[in-house]
Amino acid sequence: MKQHFASDNYAGMCPEATHWFMEANASGHQPGYGEDIWTQRSTDKIRELFQTDCDVYFVFNGTAANSLALAAMCQSYHSVICTPVAHIETDECGGPEFFSNGSKLLVAEAESPAARQGKLTPDAVEQLVTKRSDIHYPKPKVVSLTQATELGTVYTVEEVRAISAIAKRRKLKLHMDGARFANAVAALGCHPSEITWRAGVDVLCFGGTKNGLPIGEAVVFFDRALSEDFAYRVKQAGQLASKMRFISAPWVGLLENDVWLRNARHANAMAQRLHDAIRDIPGVQVLHPPQVNSVFAQLPAPVIEGLYAKGWKFYQFIAGGGCRLMCAWDTTAEAVDAFASDLRQLCQP
Ligand SMILES: *Cc1c(COP(=O)(O)O)cnc(C)c1O
Repeated sequence: MKQHFASDNYAGMCPEATHWFMEANASGHQPGYGEDIWTQRSTDKIRELFQTDCDVYFVFNGTAANSLALAAMCQSYHSVICTPVAHIETDECGGPEFFSNGSKLLVAEAESPAARQGKLTPDAVEQLVTKRSDIHYPKPKVVSLTQATELGTVYTVEEVRAISAIAKRRKLKLHMDGARFANAVAALGCHPSEITWRAGVDVLCFGGTKNGLPIGEAVVFFDRALSEDFAYRVKQAGQLASKMRFISAPWVGLLENDVWLRNARHANAMAQRLHDAIRDIPGVQVLHPPQVNSVFAQLPAPVIEGLYAKGWKFYQFIAGGGCRLMCAWDTTAEAVDAFASDLRQLCQP
């Protein structure tokens, strides 16, 4: 079966997610709207995983998770600090602004070394906060980090702590877009609590879809005061699944026996394999060694056309980083090797 390197959402659901999806189906009639045993079970497992009594809500996708989480953290006159390549800025069709009734995204400058890695720094945050303090400027309220970033890099625990420190000093809340949170934790080898609430993160959008679920993301409130009335926000936005168990039960499969980490480690390892196989091909310019499950590379235009002609799918529009080659929980070594071999052949003079 043909695999692709366009996105980790090209992959289907992993066997463990499928298993619990079917178990949920076999569990007879269950209350709707999240009152079922499966939602209870997966929510408890997320609390166990993070070793804290957080509030957890399941929504259909990452755009809703981010948009609604940010809306819960902001008034309409507030602003959210992020990078120019942040998914909330470039890929959510104005969702965060829409659901917050107009909170503005304040984008950090694009030309610093950190920005070229898709990262915010304490300095960048400080600069946007102190730029203006008058009534005419949308008041900064939230810092949003993406972990792992849109450019396939990872914030270290120290980096998150440093940004959190400046956020605290400036009375800002800290949001983490964790669409690829699993890949970041797998790369860092730290405990998931260490990179989130123990480092000062208030709200995490914990991605499940790209990690092997059929559908669904978890919005995790470590600062429980922020989740007041969040259930209403989810419902109003059309994000409250009536048969919630089919979103929540597959999470049991990811969380049991650390399948989420195994899936992420595998995807990361496949990106490393791909990187090693293509890095020294003449004409291929890898941007940086992979930290998680993507490889970014500049390829000659005719080579890109050649790869498309051979049926490979991958994106070129992500964050100006050239071609993005993304591996998933089920990417096979054979697919990686076949892609690398086609690429090598096309690069021959
Ligand atoms: C995939 C992704 C999301 C979620 O996108 P949806 O398509 O709305 O599920 C959010 N943030 C980042 C960084 C992503 O890569």
